[in-house]
Amino acid sequence: MAMKSKVLIIGGTGYLGKRLVKASLGQGHQTYVLHRPEIGVDIEKVQMLLSFKQQGAHLVSGSFSDQQSLVNAVKLVDVVICAISGVHIRSHQILLQLKLVDAIKEAGNVKRFLPSEFGTDPARMENAMEPGRVTFDDKMVVRRAIEEAGIPFTYVSANCFAGYFLGGLCQPGFILPSKDHVSLLGDGNQKAIYVDEDDIATYTIKTIDDPRTLNKTVYIRPPKNILSQREVVQIWEKLIGKELHKSSIPAHEFLASMKDQNYAEQVGLTHYYHVCYEGCLANFEIGEGAEEASKLYPEVKYTSVEDYMKRYL
Ligand code: NDP
Repeated sequence: MAMKSKVLIIGGTGYLGKRLVKASLGQGHQTYVLHRPEIGVDIEKVQMLLSFKQQGAHLVSGSFSDQQSLVNAVKLVDVVICAISGVHIRSHQILLQLKLVDAIKEAGNVKRFLPSEFGTDPARMENAMEPGRVTFDDKMVVRRAIEEAGIPFTYVSANCFAGYFLGGLCQPGFILPSKDHVSLLGDGNQKAIYVDEDDIATYTIKTIDDPRTLNKTVYIRPPKNILSQREVVQIWEKLIGKELHKSSIPAHEFLASMKDQNYAEQVGLTHYYHVCYEGCLANFEIGEGAEEASKLYPEVKYTSVEDYMKRYL
């Protein structure tokens, strides 16, 4: 049997990154996690890194302000996965990856790089609105650098992180579902795709040694989880045994209300607009030159929307 690739995870203490570390270890990869000296005395992050070490990961010291340290880290492995932050209400550091691309190019040994993507496919968002298009534009800058450097890649388009979207019944600004009321975005009938964050990590690690995903985009579209906001609300209503009061926010009102929000919130709101009013995640066929994760890996028993939502009861 072929050897499993050694993996370096950057941003391993993040919301998605910690799940990537767990999945990489769980699937039997030698797993290296970048420890940035900048995290200083952030006790939660240091404790998390130590717990990865106890589970068998290797911690590697390296900093984005020390290029040689990145080159040295990258030289230890076959595959690099970056999960650096890219949500403005938390932090957005997507372009820092250009330094990582340079390090991977210089090191010359990496068989696959997975940049921090894990959302809407930025290649399909050429006409995205301001200010949220910055997320897609920056991710495309990184893609171009990867491709110009000739680095083998896989781009993972993970659709909606379930915690953000199911947790809030698809309403921006909410991550816990109400038992009384929901505001539908428009008619609430546009389909979106919700994925358990641990499943995103499982599928992502599955792709790294798979020749079928080399230099391709992999969309994660678990078939049972392609649902409209109304359908998500119905699942929640079934679980709580009660109907919610519903109101609706027409598109023009949603867009007008954005003006009162700060920049970071506006970025997030335009993403919700594309997903929930325009259906940007599910309104296209995957087509040639890309793959779909649940078809590639039918052995993964992904979490259904209903099972994910039981945690909020
Ligand atoms: P986090 O906000 O949890 O941050 C991840 C890591 O980024 C941190 O742990 C940290 O790594 C690293 N980081 C932050 N600032 C810096 C810096 N200045 N220098 C170096 N490293 C830094 O990220 P998320 O898990 O929320 O996001 C990961 C990806 O997932 C992004 O591409 C994002 O766009 C996407 N995403 C998609 C969503 C969806 O619904 N589809 C929802 C949320 C995110 P360290 O361990 O070194 O401290």
